[in-house]
Amino acid sequence: MLIHLNDVLSCEEKTISRAIDLEMDSFDSDLGSFPFIKKEPVELTITNLGEEKLRIEAETAFTAAVPCDRCLEEVEISLELAISKEVDMKQTAEGRIEDLDETDFVIGYNLDVDKLVYSEILVNWPMKTLCREDCKGICRKCGTNLNHSSCSCDTVELDPRMAVIAEIFKNSN
Ligand SMILES: [Zn+2]
Ligand SMILES: [Zn+2]
Repeated sequence: MLIHLNDVLSCEEKTISRAIDLEMDSFDSDLGSFPFIKKEPVELTITNLGEEKLRIEAETAFTAAVPCDRCLEEVEISLELAISKEVDMKQTAEGRIEDLDETDFVIGYNLDVDKLVYSEILVNWPMKTLCREDCKGICRKCGTNLNHSSCSCDTVELDPRMAVIAEIFKNSN
């Protein structure tokens, strides 16, 4: 969703507030594509700070479905975002990217709300997703989800030093 910034810029000390629906239905990154189960509208406030500077504030919340790192079962991840950025409209796009140290969510005189929110999700995305702290994961041999049932695979891994000794015994027979 693009928001035209001309209105706010045209007169000083003007503020606009709007509720905007995110266009994206999932968070797509290098890690995968994670569908949103719930998403709140983005509460957007843009304030003209004078001298062609704008403060852009956005609040939103959503819930995404993310597979557990260990057992791959779906986990609901909820994130609340409160974004506040100051943008100097006098600067070139390149200058703004350097200043904000992220993707340019202001293109010309338009604010790209999805881009703004996307870059914030990226920063806040959890490093690790577990269905529960002590998730037992899946068996590496048969794929059984060990939280729900057990399997009879021999998954005890030998200590590497013991493996060497076992090898010696095997060869001496
Ligand atoms: Zn799990
Ligand atoms: Zn197994």
